Amino acid sequence: MRIIVTSLWLLCSLSLFADSPATSVNAPVRVGVFEIPPLVIESPDGTMRGFVYDYFELMKPHLKQPIEWVSFANWNELLQAGEAREIDAVFLAQKNMQRLSLYDFTRPILQLRNYFFVRRDSVGPMNEDTVVGHSVAVIKSSANAEYLRDKFGSQITLIEYPSPQAVLQAVASAKVDTAVLNIAIASHYMKAEGINNLKLSEAIDYQYNLAIATRSDQPQLNVMFESVLDHIDNSRVEALRLKWGLVHERETDWSMAVVTSAISAVFFLLSGYVIMINRRLKAEINKREIFEQQLANLNVKAESERQKARKEARTDPLTGIDNRRKFEEFMRSQIELFMRRGNDFCLMIIDIDHFKLINDEFGHDVGDVVLREVSHSVKKIIRPYDEFGRIGGEEFGVILPDTDITEAKGTAERLMDSVVAYRNHDYPELAVTVSIGLSAMRQGDDFDTLFKRADEALYQSKEQGRNRVTVG
Ligand code: GH3
Ligand code: MG
Ligand code: MG
Repeated sequence: MRIIVTSLWLLCSLSLFADSPATSVNAPVRVGVFEIPPLVIESPDGTMRGFVYDYFELMKPHLKQPIEWVSFANWNELLQAGEAREIDAVFLAQKNMQRLSLYDFTRPILQLRNYFFVRRDSVGPMNEDTVVGHSVAVIKSSANAEYLRDKFGSQITLIEYPSPQAVLQAVASAKVDTAVLNIAIASHYMKAEGINNLKLSEAIDYQYNLAIATRSDQPQLNVMFESVLDHIDNSRVEALRLKWGLVHERETDWSMAVVTSAISAVFFLLSGYVIMINRRLKAEINKREIFEQQLANLNVKAESERQKARKEARTDPLTGIDNRRKFEEFMRSQIELFMRRGNDFCLMIIDIDHFKLINDEFGHDVGDVVLREVSHSVKKIIRPYDEFGRIGGEEFGVILPDTDITEAKGTAERLMDSVVAYRNHDYPELAVTVSIGLSAMRQGDDFDTLFKRADEALYQSKEQGRNRVTVG
């Protein structure tokens, strides 16, 4: 706890006392504050700034007692000091049932709305309806904490943190689902702490009407502050709100309402109503735009996931080439084209020779590497529009559209050479060859007859000593 006496004020008040000998009480009023920008900002050198101090400057010429600022580390400590009567006033506090036994409250000085803050990636609005079942961070012993506890009880998990920073960090690091804080205070800390994964959701149905709280066993303090507040010029308060970024939470100016005539009051209320509706509408539109953007992002994500799933359903996971299902689809479409337009094509079946032995001798993992390497070699030789798929364990198929059998045989031979050239760094003794069966689509063929002919050609390649192409 640190005590700062405003020396400038003392100089000022001494001259005031000289002018007004009626002032009887000289003991300073001990006023508790704690750092909560933009209301109270403590500089490293101990000087204080913020809305509260500027407001105090407006009050100073009318104060009849000196003020002694007592600064606390957090709100909870300040409240405890208030209970122990170590301070006489709190500058500024929210009136609630719990505090009424200890304090008198002046008229409200500053109105602040409290909002739910959530992580940017959270979907849908957070408000008093949707918060049920969620965990909520609040400042320890704050009026917000009191309000939420009374209203929701065990329907929410309320977690209290000593400072606004800790409250925001708790949501940012996903320790809790949401935080309830005032917007100006939250935005200050989000900037200062570099917290950029949070966003504002909806307001809670409880706003702060912050006032000066004075100890209830000294009622003259409340009377004194109230009389000082009578002198405060509202336009200067407006300017202060602007200066400290508190403008969007403009409070209703009751004194204005009293002095304004009935007609101008109606006009005032109407225009205020229109402005309010307008602002709500704008806020609604903003929120909707953000929501629609999120929805659009979700749709894009869902579509790309659908595409991914479609691709996965047609891809062989080991080699990344098409699977048997996709290969057969392609082959059927080529048969269709052949029947309708007479487009020639060839089917090639490639089978790795003695693959079981490779697995047995070098291990299954090396077998997998060989499967990938063979696919790689084939892909390099064939054309982009040829279809290539894994149709069995160590068996591959190639469809070569618009290709006659002589061309296809040439491709098959180059392909065999490319496989033979493969060398494994870890196992130089590993030699890989493939056998190939090849056949062209003919009139009267269907899927099965073409496949059978290519398969029989492959069988012959195996029979005749492997590492060769047979045309069937
Ligand atoms: P052939 O020259 O007559 O084709 O003899 P082969 O040993 O290649 O043929 P066989 O059909 O007897 O053996 C194929 C082996 O391929 C058996 C199986 O364990 C292996 N295999 C199938 N799928 C995979 C795989 O994904 N990874 C590995 N490493 N081996 C596989
Ligand atoms: Mg085989
Ligand atoms: Mg084989």
